[in-house]
Amino acid sequence: MQYNAYAAYEAKANLKPFSYDSGELGPNEIEVKISHCGICHSDIHLINNDWMISQYPLVPGHEIVGYVTGMGSEVKGFREGDRVGIGWQCGSCGECHLCESGQENLCGNSQATCNGHHGGYADYVRSDAGFVIHIPDGLDSAEAAPLLCGGITVFSPLDRHGIKPGMKVGIFGIGGLGHMAVQFASKMGAETYALSSSPDKAREASELGAAGFINMKDKNEMLKHLGSFDYILSTISADYDWNSIISLLKHNATLCYVGAAPSPVAIHAFTFISKQINVTGSAIGSPEQIRKMLEFAAEHGVKAMVETVPMSDVQNAMARVVENKVRYRMVLENK
Ligand code: NAP
Ligand code: ZN
Repeated sequence: MQYNAYAAYEAKANLKPFSYDSGELGPNEIEVKISHCGICHSDIHLINNDWMISQYPLVPGHEIVGYVTGMGSEVKGFREGDRVGIGWQCGSCGECHLCESGQENLCGNSQATCNGHHGGYADYVRSDAGFVIHIPDGLDSAEAAPLLCGGITVFSPLDRHGIKPGMKVGIFGIGGLGHMAVQFASKMGAETYALSSSPDKAREASELGAAGFINMKDKNEMLKHLGSFDYILSTISADYDWNSIISLLKHNATLCYVGAAPSPVAIHAFTFISKQINVTGSAIGSPEQIRKMLEFAAEHGVKAMVETVPMSDVQNAMARVVENKVRYRMVLENK
């Protein structure tokens, strides 16, 4: 069957229509007719080859929601018409100790949905069935699509690192990932602050559950919070003076990176040695964690705040993401 998509034919290029023949469906594969696909900043990094791993033509898109239209002979647990989602990962080796211990997201042979495989800026996509996730009934498709990558990427570290009442948590960068992180951290009971370079996001941050807002462009505001945070999750997509972020943390606190700044992270060792700061990172989440996150989202009313546009408007939609104008996740829609 022919799938119709939008692809970057080379690094930094505008997306253009692209069709490809999908071939036979593999025995463990599922075909999904896409209704919605979020624009994650990782799509922009991939198009620009920021991480030097991009393969062209590149069909971006890995925050996918749609309906099952085909299944390989060995697929179990799905029926045609099921509403499902696919995130960053669409395959793994299934045999290594990481896959066997439910950490498929860390598998060395992980298959990305939209690099070396054609992604979700399209009418159809395919994935290994193990990475296709049922969407709970309570969630709207457009609002749920960004949970498949952005949502799990922030939920997983907040959950693993035991965010709970009594902790002061900072979410640095209130974009697609950050606005969902504010909701998750505050629903986990933490006193959650939005750390942002965009003061016009303060009111919405409060509506999303933030107890406070720090304008990172105002040094005096930052100074009031020196040494006060138990945990900061950095979601920003750009380079930054990371030493100033560490200065906000308490002794024995944690700085966790999920945002993938293009340049190496430059931190003076002394700034984290002297306060015994844990500096760590987190990568998406396993299929089991995605299911847990979706249940938490359905139960606590966590959802992406979205702008939806037709799939054919993809180029303008991406420009709004690059200009940091979206409030807060752009979602492409197939009508
Ligand atoms: P996004 O929607 O574009 O949001 C990024 C936010 O970063 C912006 O809204 C802005 O927040 C802040 N920002 C942007 N430029 C900045 C600058 N020059 N200085 C300071 N802050 C700046 O991006 P996203 O989709 O949330 O993705 C964020 C990052 O996470 C990307 O690097 C993406 O690749 C990465 N990511 C990682 C994983 C993983 O598994 N670890 C998964 C998904 C995405 P304010 O306006 O509040 O300052
Ligand atoms: Zn993503």
